[in-house]
Amino acid sequence: MKSFIKYISDIFSGVASLLKGMRVTGKYFFSPRAIVTQQYPENRHKKGKKKLEMFDRFKGEVIMPHSENNQHKCTACGICENNCPNGTIEVISVMNIGEDGKKKRALDKHIYRLSMCSFCALCVKTCPSKALAFSQEFEHAVFDRKKLIKILNKPGSTLMKGIE
Ligand code: SF4
Ligand code: SF4
Repeated sequence: MKSFIKYISDIFSGVASLLKGMRVTGKYFFSPRAIVTQQYPENRHKKGKKKLEMFDRFKGEVIMPHSENNQHKCTACGICENNCPNGTIEVISVMNIGEDGKKKRALDKHIYRLSMCSFCALCVKTCPSKALAFSQEFEHAVFDRKKLIKILNKPGSTLMKGIE
């Protein structure tokens, strides 16, 4: 008899606990304080819908921002390549003769392998000329892996004046 009473009492306490949890869920369901979820992918390109935006600190992929004159800030020093823990970055440089007749290193290709990147941000943080940044792009699915190997400096781009 004693165990039967305990059994019934356990059922009641289980139901009470369930209702307590459901009360919290129900409260948020009918009167949410702030809606933080996004209707993706519906809000991707649709006109009239709020455009999907990631938060400021989101790390989508490493990029090399260029000015409107197609200039970047990379001096091809190789620090980002040395600091990257995964071998994600490869900096290929060339030696040019400057206006003063001296040899000067210049960027040929800044290669970034997105599939290997762990988004640790070491490259972005340690670049002495702040040539790298993170974009907000997050749709990285591709059918061909080669598309994940990116050259960050744009064709024909040059070093921004004043960056040494
Ligand atoms: S991105 Fe920055 S750290 Fe990397 S090679 Fe260019 S200047 Fe150096
Ligand atoms: S974020 Fe980290 S893993 Fe990715 S390229 Fe930069 S240093 Fe390498």
